[in-house]
Order: sequence, then structure tokens, then C-alpha cells
Amino acid sequence: MSIFQPRIAIAGGGPSGLALGLLLNQRGIRTTIYELRSKPSQEELAKPSGMLDLHEESGLKVMRECGLWDAFQAALGDCAESMRVLNHDGVIVHEHDGQHASRPEIPRNALANMFMERMPTDIIKWDHKIFSATRTRNEITGAVEISLDLGPNGTATYDFVVGADGAWSRIRKLLSDIKPFYSGALLVAAVMRHASTKYPHLVELNGPGSLMALGHHNGILTHRGPQDSIRVSAAISTADEEWAVTTGLEGKTPAEIKAPLLDDPKLFRDWAPLLKELFATACDEEEKDNPGSAVNILPLYMLPVGYRWEHQTGVTLLGDAAHLMTPWAGEGVNLALWDSLDLAYAIAAVPQTVDAAAWQAELDPLVKGFEDVMLTRATEKAKLTARNMDICLGEDGAKGLRDAFRMYTEMALAARAEGTGPAESSS
Ligand SMILES: Cc1cc2nc3c(=O)[nH]c(=O)nc-3n(C[C@H](O)[C@H](O)[C@H](O)COP(=O)(O)OP(=O)(O)OC[C@H]3O[C@@H](n4cnc5c(N)ncnc54)[C@H](O)[C@@H]3O)c2cc1C
Repeated sequence: MSIFQPRIAIAGGGPSGLALGLLLNQRGIRTTIYELRSKPSQEELAKPSGMLDLHEESGLKVMRECGLWDAFQAALGDCAESMRVLNHDGVIVHEHDGQHASRPEIPRNALANMFMERMPTDIIKWDHKIFSATRTRNEITGAVEISLDLGPNGTATYDFVVGADGAWSRIRKLLSDIKPFYSGALLVAAVMRHASTKYPHLVELNGPGSLMALGHHNGILTHRGPQDSIRVSAAISTADEEWAVTTGLEGKTPAEIKAPLLDDPKLFRDWAPLLKELFATACDEEEKDNPGSAVNILPLYMLPVGYRWEHQTGVTLLGDAAHLMTPWAGEGVNLALWDSLDLAYAIAAVPQTVDAAAWQAELDPLVKGFEDVMLTRATEKAKLTARNMDICLGEDGAKGLRDAFRMYTEMALAARAEGTGPAESSS
């Protein structure tokens, strides 16, 4: 009798999809990853891409499980774990040097590349957008079949489809009608490269790690990154989801948006000159690096805290598709990787079966258990994220964050004394 091989597809080649693809491949389980973007070149992968701090119980655990620990260590080093919190006058209200921190930061592109390099190239189908998915039961075999509409690339049918396709997941539509909603804040981001040589005084302001300047419901946030870069984001509270359009800033270049933001009394007009210079310089440098390109304005979306769906045979979600939250606790990618590991365990635990219906019957309770655990822990992290966002974008965000750090430190010390491990920290 031939051995049954389930047809498994992963929608999306972000961190969760790539991690799951690699983990399954390492267990001898075949998958196909459909990713709408084109395959990135090595030059694109080397560009500053935002930093992600990985946590012990989730992101770092996946690095170890994938056998990526050494490659991960080699990719570190562009951003120290230190953090400065300043008020809008530029006064440092809290600082930690990162000496005893355990959340190393890695460039987003380097993380993706580590997963990609270790998979056979034909697993990932680049330039393959999933337009829609349908779920039917095959009357002859009794198995559920998920059909993916790949537009110009045709259709493909699977026994199990994993929606790792992020915030605007097409696969989520098979499970519920819920859509993400606007959180009330947005980021305007720009990157300056070669900061130490060109702008040593701004590097001195920033320090070797991250900076969060907060006040009057807004913020200026930074991360160090590859190519001696500083990514600077203006965080803006606004109830207007269409803020970019309403303000006429949609499609403008970084140099064009600089003055409207920095001269606006409701935004940054009264902020410390050096903080304003930090953002202005990043805008100017971004303009030089990408002449004429529109600035990156990113409204932050989230799924309702506690979002769940009723389990359905043949399909599940993970990562942002399952529990999109804003980045204020730095948990999104960690949860995404954790989900991938748990789902890989679940799929690998299915014993040999004779056909798709039998395979799905074995997989069903395992996936249901996976979903329960994933959504319970995501709900806790989503609550933490919402709390952090309220604090950071409060009237005196700097003081609020300083107090929160103090509380987290006390909780961590207490937990360590009791032997129950570290407590949560803000991103
Ligand atoms: C500004 C910002 C900063 C952040 N900082 C942090 C941080 O410091 N720490 C942290 O833990 N998290 C952070 N996050 C969150 C983190 O980026 C996400 O949680 C994480 O990327 C989720 O991974 P994912 O694979 O589930 O989804 P995604 O990263 O969204 O990947 C989804 C993939 O699916 C593809 N796709 C989408 N639709 C389709 C389709 N129809 N067909 C085919 N492919 C499709 C996309 O192109 C993408 O590659 C941040 C997020 C933002 C916006």
C-alpha cells in the first residue's frame, strides 16, 4: 500500500509562513508556500528593514528548534538591547543599558533570509497572490478540500491550508467575517544610514539601542539597524483613519512631510530641537536614498482582543492572520514564530493514514488544541499590547513608560526570587 502524503499549503511567506515551512520540511513533511511578493534580491535583503526583538519562550526557542542558533548569533550586532525613554523636552527619564537583557534584536530581512536559505527553493512560490479560498467536502472521498484561486497562476487544491497571510488574510474569510480595525495611531518612518560617521551627535542622543521620546499622545521612536542605520518613526495619535489623505500628505516624499509634522502645534512643534532634528535628518536621508519615493505612512491595525473562530476541518490561521496586534509590546513576530512551532508539532504528530479523510480526522483535534492554546496566549499579549499603547500614547507617555518599566522590573525580580521566570516587558 502506498503511503498517503497530505497536500499542505501555507498562504504567505512572512515570518510565520517561512518558519512553519522550514519546520515541516525538517520533519520530512511537504508543503507549498504561496507568497505574493517577488523573491527579494540579496541587495534588497541587506537594506535596513526594521528590527525585531526575539523572546526566550518563543522567537529564540524557534531559532534553536530550527537549528538556526549560530546563524542567528551571527546576524545580531546592529542594535544593542539598551533603551532610552525621553520626554518631549528631550530629558531622559529612564534608561537601561541592556546588559542583562535577553531579547536580542535581528533585522527583519535577516530573519526571513535564514529561513529561506534552509529550504529547497521550489517550496516557495513567489509572485503567487492568493485571491480567494473556498472550502468544500469531496462527496466521494469524504475529505474536505480547500481550493486556492491564484489568479493568473490558476487554482490549486489542498487537504490543509494554513493562513499565514498577515493582517488582511484571505484565508481568514473561510473561518469568520472579522476584519482588522484601525487602532487610533499611525507611524511615519524614515531611515538614515551611516549615522555614526555622518551624524555623531544624533547617535549620541540615540545611544546604541532604541529611543522612545513620548509626550502629548505622540512619539518619536528609533531603532538602530544594519548599515549603521537609525530608523526613526513619528508615532501619531489620531482618530482619523484616513489621516494621510485628510492632511494631504498621502504620496508625499519624506522631505515634503517633514515640515508639516514638525511645525504642527498639535504634533511636534514644541518638541526639543534635537529630537526634531533626529526625525528631520532621517527624512532627508531617506529622500536621498530613495529620491521621489512616497514616505512610509503606516496606520496601525488590530483584530479585536480575544478574537476566536469556530474550528473548521482543513484550515487554520497563525501569526498576524490569527491575532493581529499593534507593535507596542513587540510580541507579534514572537507569537508568529511560536505558533509555527506549535503547529509544526501538531502536524508532525499525525500518524500514517490511508487517505485524506483519515488524515484530517487525526489532525482535527490536534489543530483544535493548537488553536485554543495559540488564541489564549495571544489574548494575554494583546491585552499587554493595548495597555502599552495607552501608556506610550498618553498625555505623559514618558513618565507612564518609566513607571511601567519600574513595575515590570519589580515583577521580574519577584518572579526570579520565586523561581517563576522573567515578567513581561514593553518593547
Ligand atoms: C511597524 C511595525 C513594527 C513591528 N515591530 C515588531 C517588533 O519589534 N517585535 C515583534 O515581535 N513584532 C513586531 N511587529 C509585528 C510583526 O511584524 C508581525 O507580527 C509579524 O510580521 C507577523 O508575521 P506573519 O508572518 O504572521 O505576517 P506578515 O509578516 O504580515 O507576513 C504575511 C505574508 O503574507 C503575504 N501575503 C499577504 N497576503 C497574501 C496573499 N493574498 N497571497 C499571498 N501572500 C500574501 C505577505 O506579502 C507577507 O509576506 C511590528 C509590526 C509593525 C507594523
